[in-house]
Amino acid sequence: MATVLIVEDNERNMRLMRLLLRPLGYELLEAVDGTEALATLAGTTPDIILVDIQLPDVDGLEITRRLRKEPRFATTPIVALTAYAMPGDREMFLRAGCTGYVAKPIDTRSFPDIIASYLHAGAPPSMPEGTATE
Ligand code: MN
Repeated sequence: MATVLIVEDNERNMRLMRLLLRPLGYELLEAVDGTEALATLAGTTPDIILVDIQLPDVDGLEITRRLRKEPRFATTPIVALTAYAMPGDREMFLRAGCTGYVAKPIDTRSFPDIIASYLHAGAPPSMPEGTATE
């Protein structure tokens, strides 16, 4: 089953995501700030990373930019978690290397499906096998 790293400093949000994902069989890794996230990622490559934008130390976009420089994270879905999705934010997240974002408060009904769809879609650019590029 897929391994999910959740980077989230808010314990309520962390608990909610844990409650939603763990029963589905995901193996969960948790980090409460950027330092812990990068330390965890030094030793493991999860199948998907959910990263809060507002963290106590480094912001989620900076974490994403750093990870995208590493070949082993080139295609890992990285999904931003944000409480403040403003017009233009999506573009900002994508420019930083995020695959997409989930708005908080988390919608408990759709969240598991959203995570599953990111897992199956992978990070852009993702092409079905056999599709010509250019
Ligand atoms: Mn936060």
